[in-house]
Amino acid sequence: MATISILDIVEDTTVDGPGFRTTVYSAGCPNCCPGCHNPHSWDIANGHEVDVEDILKVILADQFADVTFSGGDPMFQPAGFAALAKAVKERSGKNIWCYTGYLFEDLLQNAQQKELLEYVDVLVDGRFVEVLKDESLRFRGSSNQRIIDVQASLQHGKTVLLDI
Ligand code: SF4
Repeated sequence: MATISILDIVEDTTVDGPGFRTTVYSAGCPNCCPGCHNPHSWDIANGHEVDVEDILKVILADQFADVTFSGGDPMFQPAGFAALAKAVKERSGKNIWCYTGYLFEDLLQNAQQKELLEYVDVLVDGRFVEVLKDESLRFRGSSNQRIIDVQASLQHGKTVLLDI
């Protein structure tokens, strides 16, 4: 199976989507947002390669936690995350959130990134913009970022925001 370069896996997070979640922090991000919370994540060499199957075991070991892909930018390694997301969906009913600095509409133009979207329930998209930072926002850092219902968006052929 594929490998993914990751920084960490953190269990039972409560800030990366609703409820308790297992968050996989991807290494590598091309977006270079000024004010980024974790510039260390930009260089994919700062991560370590882990088999998708081993990440899957950690995710499935927690019967109750849902799943979030964060980073870094998971859309920088779309093939590995698509394999992981597909396996999560095949072997559990877990809900998947994904954070990315790319825009949803741009991801649809890339075959591998679009494939990953097919297994994602919710996408938080767009770069972090420091002047739009708002600490009162739930699950996002700046007000330009959108919380998108991916499956409804794919079904209707237009971007559908999640009413959170
Ligand atoms: S997309 Fe996220 S990880 Fe990447 S530079 Fe922007 S804030 Fe940092």
